[in-house]
Amino acid sequence: MAELEITSISKSFGTVEVLRDVNLKIRSGEFVVFVGPSGCGKSTLLRMITGLETESSGDIHIDGKRVNEVDPAKRGTAMVFQSYALYPHMTVAENMGFGLKMAGEPKNVIREKVAQAAGILRLEQLLDRRPGQLSGGQKQRVAIGRAIVRNPKVFLFDEPLSNLDAELRVQMRAELIDLHRRLGATMIYVTHDQVEAMTLADRIVVMHGGVVQQYGRPLDLYDDPDNRFVAGFIGSPKMNFLDAAVNEVGSDHVTLGNIGGSGRTLRLPFRGFDASVKQVVLGVRPEHVSLGSGGPDELPVTVSFAEELGDVTYIHGKLPAGNPLIIRSDKGRHDGQDTCAVTLDSHGLRLFDAAGRRLRESRT
Ligand code: ADP
Ligand code: MG
Repeated sequence: MAELEITSISKSFGTVEVLRDVNLKIRSGEFVVFVGPSGCGKSTLLRMITGLETESSGDIHIDGKRVNEVDPAKRGTAMVFQSYALYPHMTVAENMGFGLKMAGEPKNVIREKVAQAAGILRLEQLLDRRPGQLSGGQKQRVAIGRAIVRNPKVFLFDEPLSNLDAELRVQMRAELIDLHRRLGATMIYVTHDQVEAMTLADRIVVMHGGVVQQYGRPLDLYDDPDNRFVAGFIGSPKMNFLDAAVNEVGSDHVTLGNIGGSGRTLRLPFRGFDASVKQVVLGVRPEHVSLGSGGPDELPVTVSFAEELGDVTYIHGKLPAGNPLIIRSDKGRHDGQDTCAVTLDSHGLRLFDAAGRRLRESRT
């Protein structure tokens, strides 16, 4: 268990900047997930923490000690990769104990630690097998076991479940949550899958283009995104975005016009709206769009298709000017109409400026 502090980390490969001014504090025992689209710098940041990559500037502290120049083997971190990276000619037990053997640990200590890790991961029956005789999920458990035997201060996972099929991924996620609870270790987990991030993390770091977009608890990111990128990245199906003009600003409200090109207006409670903002993007999740009854203030929607999932239906449609809109209907059935009318629940609306920054109410 250890806390970790990343201060002003930047990284360039040649002239290409891949991380910019990353600052993060990870608490001892916390499960933190780095999430973002492919190429946003997640693996580079993880590799830097473990010492496989050097930083262009900035510092990394593990338990208060600066580790920038500390050898990877001495940082107290252990990494688990997507590719498992097991030695095919060694048994499961030999694979798990290899790092300890290289470190010169006595045989009986290695045997004991391997047996302990095998117990935690339910691999006792497989210790004499070779990787070729294991399923994908079993191989990944061996790779995790190899990390556990080293008793690291910080576990680092780089997309460890991406090679597994969907069902096994869900099962392995549950196993990882359980493992984290039992070991109480600090864990950092990289994924491009926001559902994985939401289910695993105590806190999530959303990254985009080498920049941390937001760092917070899963539901805080979902309910209270700092910008349009986070709003659109977290949640499935995605948040809807509608362009709107600012018609009129009051001290406790704002009136938006031509919502999503529909010509409709909407008066929203909003304290301290910045009157210099003339154009906004209105974010609204599918569960905050309700099917209406045809009233004059409702937005008319042309239905493109409906995803009927049984317990819930997602209706995909378009507003008159073409702005796409997804509606969640809990009735579980779509009545087959090719048009409908909707209202937007005002408590579920989030406003962004043209640059994608969140517009928040003033607290005073
Ligand atoms: P992620 O893990 O989020 O998919 P990476 O950290 O692997 O992203 O990569 C971030 C960016 O850095 C990508 O544009 C990638 O091409 C680039 N990159 C990674 N490693 C190197 C390298 N050794 N040399 C040059 N560019 C690299
Ligand atoms: Mg990666």
